[in-house]
Amino acid sequence: MAKFATFTKGGKSGIGAVDGDRVHDLSETFGGATDLLPLVEAGPEGAQKAAAAVAGGSCPVLALNDLSLSAPIRRPAKIVAIGLNYIDHCHESGLPVPEKPVVFTKHTNTITGPYDDVCWRTDITDEVDYEVELGVIIGRETSHVSEAEALSCVFGYSVVNDVSARDLQLGGGAGQWDLGKSLDTFCPWGPVIVTADEIGDPQNIDVRLRLNGETRQESNTRNMIFSVAYLVSYLSRHMTLVPGDLIATGTPPGVGMGMDPKGYMTDGDVCETEIEGIGTLRNKMRIIG
Ligand code: ZN
Repeated sequence: MAKFATFTKGGKSGIGAVDGDRVHDLSETFGGATDLLPLVEAGPEGAQKAAAAVAGGSCPVLALNDLSLSAPIRRPAKIVAIGLNYIDHCHESGLPVPEKPVVFTKHTNTITGPYDDVCWRTDITDEVDYEVELGVIIGRETSHVSEAEALSCVFGYSVVNDVSARDLQLGGGAGQWDLGKSLDTFCPWGPVIVTADEIGDPQNIDVRLRLNGETRQESNTRNMIFSVAYLVSYLSRHMTLVPGDLIATGTPPGVGMGMDPKGYMTDGDVCETEIEGIGTLRNKMRIIG
């Protein structure tokens, strides 16, 4: 039905429906919303209300070029990420293909905008890697949902770069996935949320990632080991998912860790994370100490 974005203009945040190079400002339609959480929380009625406001011409129309886009939801209740969800990525990581989804957390402090810098300090990490992932945004409270019903709980889809500090994540024997995945700015996402009906089948979408213009990752979501429907159902049997929750569904092969020599990112690198039908994140890497 639509592409929705969170933006700032003149220091003020708002939300809108993106239509080519125009944005229908829906901030007042959703009570002065400063990110997309109120719209997502409103469920199917929210999407209808948005569509009615756009069709009725009652909301201001802004030029996309005049806006800077932010992360669609700045503080979802949780970000749940899936590891090792593409077979070839398991092989390049030297890890066995999992029989059940590998689930971990990125804390919400990691969230940053689709065109913002990803920053780190070299006394904390010097093995920073990228991971293009299809992001799933939950649209209603979801608990013990069947695989057949799972996609009806999805509000929409977005692009996530699951930036990872490999030395923290995997170092010292047991590793520290939580630290390695949760440094500030390590979850750029956006630039929009595309509603589930517009995406259709989430298992037939091209995903790719370029570092400084060089293609590093290129795959299709059909190569996932566990489908979006399976993941939503599986997670919902362990934890209640709520509107706005973001699920990062795992990355295909081509990460820096799997290269010889390792292809980690450094200061000044530009990472473009792209998903067909949704858009492209463009983030500059910055060492800040
Ligand atoms: Zn990942």
